[in-house]
Amino acid sequence: MKKILSIIVPCFNEEEALPYFYDEIKKVTNKMKYVNFEYIFVDDGSSDNTLNVLKEYSKKDKKIKYITFSRNFGKEAAMLAGLEYSKGDFVAIMDADLQDPPSLLPRMYDILINEEYDSVATRRVNRIGEPPIRSFFARKFYKLINKISKVEMVDGARDYRLMKRVVVDSILSVKEYNRYSKGLFGFVGFKTKWIEFENIKRVAGATKWSFWKLLIYAIEGITAYSTLPLAISAVIGVLLCFISFLAIIYIIIKTLIFGDPALGWPSLACIILFVSGIQLFCIGILGQYLAKTYLETKNRPIYICKETNIKKLKKY
Ligand code: UDP
Ligand code: MG
Repeated sequence: MKKILSIIVPCFNEEEALPYFYDEIKKVTNKMKYVNFEYIFVDDGSSDNTLNVLKEYSKKDKKIKYITFSRNFGKEAAMLAGLEYSKGDFVAIMDADLQDPPSLLPRMYDILINEEYDSVATRRVNRIGEPPIRSFFARKFYKLINKISKVEMVDGARDYRLMKRVVVDSILSVKEYNRYSKGLFGFVGFKTKWIEFENIKRVAGATKWSFWKLLIYAIEGITAYSTLPLAISAVIGVLLCFISFLAIIYIIIKTLIFGDPALGWPSLACIILFVSGIQLFCIGILGQYLAKTYLETKNRPIYICKETNIKKLKKY
């Protein structure tokens, strides 16, 4: 029997890119006659015509499925919804803007069939076309996160990957609210083959990531996969105590020898400012973790589906 391959495509305001994507994916999958395809487009609360475009496609082509959210929940939520609704023995996730080349799919499928891998992931080898400052911080982020977290995150890794059902089920078994896929894929493990490709500019439309959004995303990644910042704030505390202890001894000795205890208020002001800054910084770190815990305990749904033409499997 032919295997089923589900392709999940998160879409947020992608009406311009979708026609290009549709043509390209059809071109690739038409050549793969040995698999049955299921296409799941997740409209992440787009404000443009994305949903209507998807509905048109689904009328023409019964294999095209769509899910639309009640508002924008973010790409992580869109990917989760796609995974939960997918039925394939194999599942691929790819962007709608053709930055994840569908032409790699046959090769990825062959690897899973013929080699001993559970998933095939992709990474771009360069960041050509990206603002240099963004590339710089991205590189630093990956260096940092790999140092402070036990879960490996690969620099340049895309969310574009093809997985066997076991991998998908393992990802779905992680029920956390603060989802950070780059870490989740690493967390569940499994044998993964990495294939590389040159960065490609998006075919149409604009990126949804501003610098600030990326920065917040990076902080999320750090708090989700490492508790080292908490340990660092504790170490800073101990260090400051030690320094103040030395300072006390110095002042006592100086006063005993020279008298003159009243001098030095400007340095005192500086010290107070410095220490209170550090304190606020550490409380901020603590707050980040507390906020995450708060959101987890609320147990809110990760996305709200407004409309779909897919029947969801019971187990999810
Ligand atoms: N996306 C989404 N929800 C969002 C932001 C993005 O579903 O809130 C989708 C978007 O439509 C695209 C993919 O995620 O298919 C990657 O987004 P984008 O191209 O803006 O990111 P970049 O490639 O610049 O990292
Ligand atoms: Mg893109």
